[in-house]
This record gives sequence, C-alpha cells and structure tokens, in this order.
Amino acid sequence: MDKQEIDKLNQEFSYLTPQDLIQFFLQKYKNRIALASNLGAEDQILTQMVSSLDQTAIIFTLDTHKLFNESYRVIEKTNKKYNIQIKVIAPEQKDIDNAFEGRPFTSIYDSIENRKKCCNARKVIPLKKFLGTVDAWITGLRKEQSVTRTNMQLIEWDEEFNILKINPLINWTEKQVWQYIKDYDVPYNELHDKGYPSIGCQPCTRAVEPGEDVRAGRWWWENPEYRECGLHKK
Ligand code: SF4
Repeated sequence: MDKQEIDKLNQEFSYLTPQDLIQFFLQKYKNRIALASNLGAEDQILTQMVSSLDQTAIIFTLDTHKLFNESYRVIEKTNKKYNIQIKVIAPEQKDIDNAFEGRPFTSIYDSIENRKKCCNARKVIPLKKFLGTVDAWITGLRKEQSVTRTNMQLIEWDEEFNILKINPLINWTEKQVWQYIKDYDVPYNELHDKGYPSIGCQPCTRAVEPGEDVRAGRWWWENPEYRECGLHKK
C-alpha cells in the first residue's frame, strides 16, 4: 500500500474504538492476521479484546528463552482465563550461534551492534518468519511509550515485513491502559507492580524509578534513541 492509501485508512478509522477497529480487521483478514503479544499491559488488553471477538484468532508471542519467569506465568493465566492458546514462537539455535560467533552472552552489553545481533536472532528472525504467513499484524504500540514511537500511526504499512500494521492503542495514555485493565480484570505481569512498566528479556530489563520514562528500564545502558529491538522500525 502506498502512503496515500494508508493516510486514507487512518482518516477513515480514526473515530473507531480499538474494539471496532480490531473487529473490522479480524473480519477482513480472518486467519491472515495476528496479534503479536509481548505480554505487556497493552498487549494483554489487546488479547482480551481479540479473544472476546474470536477465540480462534491468532495471538502469538516470541519466547527468546531469556524471559522472566513472571512472563511465562502470564501466558498460562491468560490462556486459562480466555480459553485460548497463545502461540509461542522460539528462535533457532543456529541463528543464535551465528549472532554470537563464539562470544559470551554478556557481550550484548559491550556494544549496540552485539546487542542488536542477539535481538535479531531471538526476535526479528522468528518474527519475520511468522509474519510471512499473514497479511496484517496488530501491536500494542503507544506513542507515549518512547521517543522512538512518537511518529507512529494507527495504521501503517510495515516496510520491514511488507504487511499492514495496526496499532489500536497508539493514542492511549498510560492511565487509560491501567483503567481498562482494572475495569475488565485483565491478567497482567506481576512485575508491573514492582517498578517494571515495560518488560522484555530479563537480562535487558530493569525496574525504573518513579518519574523515569516508561521504557527507561529497557536496554538501560544505551542512549534512548537506540532502544528498540528491531521489531518496530521508526
Ligand atoms: S532483549 Fe536482550 S536478551 Fe532479549 S533478544 Fe534482545 S539482547 Fe537478547
């Protein structure tokens, strides 16, 4: 799709609620659309919305083999609560070996290049393979989350994966997220109550101090403009 078509979609759909937007695209793409869940608060909301519309809709998560135990527990309790089966996508060992070329895992802290190679092997390559099977994906991105996300739109053409990308919560505030979780009793990662507003892999995520940016705990040793794993290009 070109920029004009995407702009038109954004204008047309800007008044829809996230639920109505999701319903429209689930009906349009059926089994050719997937919700990518990182098991964070926003994606838990989307999981609740998607599964309330269609329990067989594709919801998947990337298991980098470096997640917190609390994140694995979120998968179990979410499957149980909504009677769904979140697909767990794992990386291939050969891609991890290629990324590290014999270096130890801790080399991810030595340079952005090393860290991104790990993200590429554990996240980007598996995601790319999986997204090759669908025509559209849904994400829980919000503009407010980071300086790298302020220009993102409700609907985008994802040039990296060559499919449509739908971000139903793009304009939501953090307050709206937590109000929805409370109102609908959405299961969430217990680490959110322990100072982790954004949760990724255990070695690359720390708790944040009150008042810090919500993504300050992700790849905290890097400059803010580099703090993405390659799944969402600017
Ligand atoms: S977030 Fe950290 S552990 Fe996870 S894939 Fe990226 S570099 Fe590797």
